[in-house]
Amino acid sequence: MNALLEKRSKAEDEYFARQQLELRKKWARERAEEMASGQAEQLKALHFMKCPKCGMDLHTIELHHVRVDQCASCLGIWLDRGEIEQMLQPEREGLFERIMSVFR
Ligand SMILES: [Zn+2]
Repeated sequence: MNALLEKRSKAEDEYFARQQLELRKKWARERAEEMASGQAEQLKALHFMKCPKCGMDLHTIELHHVRVDQCASCLGIWLDRGEIEQMLQPEREGLFERIMSVFR
């Protein structure tokens, strides 16, 4: 084999080796993403509507159009995003106290 052909052959080998390596890296990234997404789904399924303090089920109560999740075991009260702001709006003065009085 002359020197030019040998040089071209080595360059092709390196090109294909690099291509294979990139494909393996891509495959590994995709598997890692699949695992992470699967774990996130598993965690969500495990923790959805569970008390973050004691792990018991949360029960939703709607009071004055505000949904409040309460744990029947430790009596912790949990609000979804925006519900505290909703309760504290000036036009809804006293709503927070009215809702909290139900749990006292
Ligand atoms: Zn609890």
